[in-house]
Amino acid sequence: MTVAPHFKFNNGVLHAEDLSLAELADTYDTPLYVYSRQALRDAWEAYRIASEGRDVLVCYGMKANSNLAVLNEFKNLGSGFDIVSGGELARVLAVGADPAKVVFSGVGKQVWEMKAALEAGVKCFNVESEAELTRLSEVAQAMGKVAPVSLRVNPDVDAKTHPYISTGLKENKFGIAIEKAVQVYQHAATLPGLNIVGLDCHIGSQITEVSPYLDALDKLIALIKTLASHGIHLKHLDLGGGIGIRYTDEKPLTPSDLLDQVFKVLRQHQLESLQIVLEPGRSLVGNAGVLLTRVEYLKHNEAKNFAIVDAAMNDLVRPTLYDAWHSVEAVQPRQEESSVYDIVGPICESGDWLARDRKLALQQGDLLAVMSAGAYAFTMASQYNTRPRAAEVIVDGATAHLVRPREALESLYSSETVLK
Ligand SMILES: *Cc1c(COP(=O)(O)O)cnc(C)c1O
Repeated sequence: MTVAPHFKFNNGVLHAEDLSLAELADTYDTPLYVYSRQALRDAWEAYRIASEGRDVLVCYGMKANSNLAVLNEFKNLGSGFDIVSGGELARVLAVGADPAKVVFSGVGKQVWEMKAALEAGVKCFNVESEAELTRLSEVAQAMGKVAPVSLRVNPDVDAKTHPYISTGLKENKFGIAIEKAVQVYQHAATLPGLNIVGLDCHIGSQITEVSPYLDALDKLIALIKTLASHGIHLKHLDLGGGIGIRYTDEKPLTPSDLLDQVFKVLRQHQLESLQIVLEPGRSLVGNAGVLLTRVEYLKHNEAKNFAIVDAAMNDLVRPTLYDAWHSVEAVQPRQEESSVYDIVGPICESGDWLARDRKLALQQGDLLAVMSAGAYAFTMASQYNTRPRAAEVIVDGATAHLVRPREALESLYSSETVLK
């Protein structure tokens, strides 16, 4: 049993769908990101079923995994996109996504990014401050355009997740304090070049319970009613992303858990005419991928056993950044006696670890799959230590598609110049 249904053992070898990870390592070398197409589709299907018969727009929070093949898959399934930069806008336009299904989030939108999004005609700007509101009004006016806006409010709820991925508390940099929101909306209504269309929040990531969403929803509904009494009527309510996945033994809420509850509350308040927007990232891709890596050396210190592998913190920074747990599976588990290992990379940092205290039977050359590496893995990868970023493969049944080749070593420095 692994945490991910499309990564299973078959004759003692871990497979992605119908392909052996050992074969993939032989073909494409390691480290290697391997994604399952069916896992992407299944994750989408959970949102589709939960949305059936309801006015819901799912905008994939693409910073989780922005490979064009992944974006194209979700686009074809009907997804919109939540973008957080002009770069992400360029990616969704590159796959021919419908800008009318794109929402633009982020606390630091630059003028060029606003221009590009207005030019493209995005569905909504999720505005996070009064200063941003002023800038957006000026940019839109200068272009002779009207910017559709939501305010991202900070409902001050505890998402009960890691501090670095909790975004809905007062002390976070995100959003506008909910107590100030009415005033800012009223100000927005007076600014030229803006059209108020919605209300937005995003309270955190890897949330496993429905209660933080419902706490936020209560506050948002109260705000929507106050705004209506001031003549400000909204078309949509964006509840952000944040649904968690199973990394070990979590039992996170499902899209149906969330939307059933949300629509129940909306009905109670006669607000069913609101469109609900969701921005799921991790829950659409997290368990659709693994990071495949090979053991280079085993090292036994007095205090610790280390498996030094060819993947590192530049390929998967979540462990060292968030103290995150990723399951680690031997691709061809050995029957021999196991030891307790720290799985570490070759980078010159003590923070370069992928997993700690794992019981495994290992030998040099063995392959390991770091599970749940479909989200916030490649997109957070760097070239630290002049390590080319690893290749990405999508498996579809018994076929592998290389959707991003391993970076060529020279490409890491070929555009650099030396001084005369
Ligand atoms: C990161 C992010 C998301 C996606 O979050 P997940 O936890 O991956 O679902 C959605 N909306 C905003 C504004 C974000 O910053």
